[in-house]
Amino acid sequence: MSQAIYPGSFDPVTRGHLDIIRRASKLFDHLTVVVAHNLSKPGGMFTVEERVQMLRRCTENLPNVSVDVCDGLLADYVRKNGANVVVKGLRAMSDFEQEFQQALTNKNLYPEMETLFISSAVEYTFLSSSIVKQVCSLGGDVTDFVPPEVREEIINRIQNRS
Ligand code: ADP
Repeated sequence: MSQAIYPGSFDPVTRGHLDIIRRASKLFDHLTVVVAHNLSKPGGMFTVEERVQMLRRCTENLPNVSVDVCDGLLADYVRKNGANVVVKGLRAMSDFEQEFQQALTNKNLYPEMETLFISSAVEYTFLSSSIVKQVCSLGGDVTDFVPPEVREEIINRIQNRS
């Protein structure tokens, strides 16, 4: 069975992430979306458990997709999980430098691991979780950026904060 892992912060999941999830799910028998703790993005709007729940709701129509959490090194998670392919979405050249560094580091930590880059859909190249949070907290409409379940969650979170 071919398996892959799609790791990220998903704080929260956007339509750009979902596009990558759908496309990657067609390439493998099973895809595990992994909410990974990212030291370079501390804090966050949603807890890991909330991110997992939102991802589960948005992917329930994709039978070969599951959602999990990784607390430590991604290379260790991949090794234990047995899926040696990690999928990453690339929006622009600006993503490339960091993603390439990560891919080479992971390759060093676990040589069996391969990183597969999938280019973003043109309409989502500008989209990130942080821009969604920024637009929403300034009262902008995020309907085009996130699935409906997530839109409700962000609006509630921002209203409860203020
Ligand atoms: P963000 O930058 O939105 O906080 P994450 O850290 O959750 O995203 O990213 C997880 C993975 O998804 C990374 O490989 C990232 O490049 C990719 N990704 C994020 N947003 C998009 C998008 N709009 N289109 C394609 N890939 C994306």
